[in-house]
Amino acid sequence: MNEQTSKYKPIGICPHCNHEVRAKISVKNNLRRDKCKCPNCGATIYVCRNYGCRNYAVGGDYYDDEFCPTCAKELMKFAGKFAEKSSGILLTALATAFSSFIVSKTKK
Ligand SMILES: [Zn+2]
Ligand SMILES: [Zn+2]
Repeated sequence: MNEQTSKYKPIGICPHCNHEVRAKISVKNNLRRDKCKCPNCGATIYVCRNYGCRNYAVGGDYYDDEFCPTCAKELMKFAGKFAEKSSGILLTALATAFSSFIVSKTKK
């Protein structure tokens, strides 16, 4: 468990310089994520929240990204696909409901 107490994170891609770096923990944070610093470009970075991802997310003064650029892109793609699909299902359901409504009306 010595790895846990070390001041360095596993190797991941820095979102600023796109280099594979072993980020140095600058502020240890048990409640939130550890604030890290890229040893290559010196930018503030955070570990990506996506499970199993070792890349780093952009850290800002007011807002820190939850995911690294790669995961963020994947999530956007996934969300877009899901939105497309669910709106399609919704339309089909509405159309079915509407046509059965018409049928019930005309039967009377
Ligand atoms: Zn960097
Ligand atoms: Zn990621």
